[in-house]
Amino acid sequence: MNIGFDLDKVFIDYPFFLPDFIIDRFYKKKANGKLSYRIPKKPEQLLRLLIHHPLLRQPIKTNIDFMKKLASQNTHKHYLISGRFGFLKNKTQKLVQKHELYKLFEGLYFNFGNQQTHLFKNDIIQRLKIDLYVDDDRELLKYLAKKNPKTKFFWLNKKVRSKIEKNLFAIKVLPDMFS
Ligand SMILES: [Mg+2]
Repeated sequence: MNIGFDLDKVFIDYPFFLPDFIIDRFYKKKANGKLSYRIPKKPEQLLRLLIHHPLLRQPIKTNIDFMKKLASQNTHKHYLISGRFGFLKNKTQKLVQKHELYKLFEGLYFNFGNQQTHLFKNDIIQRLKIDLYVDDDRELLKYLAKKNPKTKFFWLNKKVRSKIEKNLFAIKVLPDMFS
């Protein structure tokens, strides 16, 4: 199987002092119920580079450890598919080196070309023929699940474990993808 993983909030945590809903509000805007992501302008990019400081972006150890185990089993092909924009390219490359993420995945895909996040991820998922994909962004997953009925999607969250759509499932830990 080809398995895709998001980066932020799956392997790398948000800064502890910023509640998730504030970050989500920063990144996402909704116009008439349609999904749309904000690509920040220069001054805001600088601010956001600061909150991307490595000390504020701690690895999610249990998930990285699980990923190491998966990678060592060599049963599937794993891909990192992250919506991070181009202004985060340097920081992201450092992060990939620091946590040796390149060792865990067949390929790493980033949205450095600044496309709309959902369009970028949809494109990569189709190109790589991804069978399973996990992310923390529920609205994004709803969009992807509709576009890719043969792919199984997993919403990693802290509260619920349930079936949301026929190919979209809420999970609390990564191993639930395989159960
Ligand atoms: Mg994420």
